Amino acid sequence: MTKAPHFVIVGGGTAGWIAAFIFQDSARRAKLDARISVVESSKIPTVGVGEASTAALRVFLQHFKVDEFEFFRETGATFKLGIRHQDWRRKGYTYYGPIDDPHQVVAPPTGAPSDYLNVYCVSAGRRVQDMHLFGPLLERKKAPYAKKADGSLIPLGPFHYAFHFDQALVGRFLKARSAGIEIVDAIVSGVERDAESGNIRSLVLDEGEKLAGDFFVDATGFRKQLIVKELNAPWISYAKELPVNRALPFWIDIEPGEEIANYTLAWAQEAGWMWQIPTQTRYGCGYVYSDEFTTPEEAKLEVERVLGRQIEARGDIRFQIGRLQEAWIGNCLAVGLSSSFLEPLESTSIHGTIVQMMLFADRYLKHPARMTGADRDDYNRRVGRQVDDFRTFVNTHYVVERDDTPFWRNVRAERLHPETKERLAHWRKEMPRREHFVDFLFGLPHVETQLHYPVLDGLGLLDAKLAKGEMAKQPEVRAFARKTVDSLVKEYKLASSKALGHAEFLEHVRNNAG
Ligand SMILES: Cc1cc2nc3c(=O)[nH]c(=O)nc-3n(C[C@H](O)[C@H](O)[C@H](O)COP(=O)(O)OP(=O)(O)OC[C@H]3O[C@@H](n4cnc5c(N)ncnc54)[C@H](O)[C@@H]3O)c2cc1C
Repeated sequence: MTKAPHFVIVGGGTAGWIAAFIFQDSARRAKLDARISVVESSKIPTVGVGEASTAALRVFLQHFKVDEFEFFRETGATFKLGIRHQDWRRKGYTYYGPIDDPHQVVAPPTGAPSDYLNVYCVSAGRRVQDMHLFGPLLERKKAPYAKKADGSLIPLGPFHYAFHFDQALVGRFLKARSAGIEIVDAIVSGVERDAESGNIRSLVLDEGEKLAGDFFVDATGFRKQLIVKELNAPWISYAKELPVNRALPFWIDIEPGEEIANYTLAWAQEAGWMWQIPTQTRYGCGYVYSDEFTTPEEAKLEVERVLGRQIEARGDIRFQIGRLQEAWIGNCLAVGLSSSFLEPLESTSIHGTIVQMMLFADRYLKHPARMTGADRDDYNRRVGRQVDDFRTFVNTHYVVERDDTPFWRNVRAERLHPETKERLAHWRKEMPRREHFVDFLFGLPHVETQLHYPVLDGLGLLDAKLAKGEMAKQPEVRAFARKTVDSLVKEYKLASSKALGHAEFLEHVRNNAG
């Protein structure tokens, strides 16, 4: 009989704990009788930023039957219904990227192509964001809940939302619910490898002890302790097309009684962009910029000028933008910051971790002795495609009208990836449709038309004449879409007037503990 496998996750940041939760759950379902350990070091802090998720986090919480209100209370979480993109297209122009999908709640008429509501909006010169429930909620900073007469809360729609939170508290929250996972507080300083296969046999810990295992997850953040320092995994850089490489994080306190944003603010600046992400007590903020075009000192002065206040920098983070060529090598799989990193414009990092771990658990998790080279190749191909798609989507945000600084002129002239150009060229001939995005993640969430439309629309990259032409081919679909969009806009405007204010919702949750 094969002995019970030992899965060892190195790193106790958000990525390590998400991996541990998913591994434990799937191993149990697969009747693997596995031992799972997390090695983390209290001497090495987690990255300390990274506070906006996508709806994938809500799917993850629901899967593990986590009480969402408990999550709000214990992690300082707030709602994220979308992203407010400010000054990207041009200075003074704002658009929202709501993350709900109205197509989900309307049964399409016979013969309607995918995305027909989006195409109709573009053809009629109407803003795509307005037919989303989250559109008016974003503009009014409201929660997607109303209060019933008996004081209980009722959701305003079936849509998944996302969260903002304190990243360190999420790690602690998951750790506190990790029954059955062994936790080792130690620094991994090296590994012992099998001479023949090159696989990792055991970790060498700082006190000289060894921890043997069958399969290792590298979740050590930017240190990439196993996958790069030990296994020398090659890195694919996205630095050419994604220009920012440095971050200046800081906080702004939220005053009592102040309304709280329900969006991540992505605010374009002279050499990059600023994020503002609310938790219940403060905005986690930062300026992500290119140090080719400004210095840390100039960046700080610029932020202070824009905000009209002094800030206290909470670090100076330099990062490499890109991904591992292969995230899974031998018996070691990297996840989180150790496997890839893109500027946090669309919160792809924690999203990527959740989806990658779900993919791995669903398709490839078995006794490590039975994992094959074909498994690794297949996983690496899919994950590589996923992160490349994130790159192309983020890169598309840089197709702007701005040319007021050397940074923006450089971005426009030199930083667009061929795939970004190719997609935009295609969408000048044919409106974006779901079929243009091949499902290579077996239905797991990915950046498809739902997220593209508000961004392409907000940047003015969709052609109303083309949309009109496509709509004209099916007059009955057009009539249905017009009626539907009219009624969605009306219904959601009304819903937003009944919705609770975001701060009021959070106060309700805090005051109604279990
Ligand atoms: C500027 C910035 C903004 C970001 N914004 C977002 C965002 O809005 N949304 C989003 O989804 N993501 C964002 N991210 C990414 C996000 O922070 C990460 O995806 C997330 O926090 C997971 O990090 P991690 O667990 O991979 O690494 P870390 O948090 O760095 O954790 C690494 C862990 O490994 C341990 N460790 C390291 N070396 C060793 C060793 N040798 N031995 C033992 N243990 C070790 C540490 O103790 C720690 O527990 C942002 C990142 C940056 C830099």
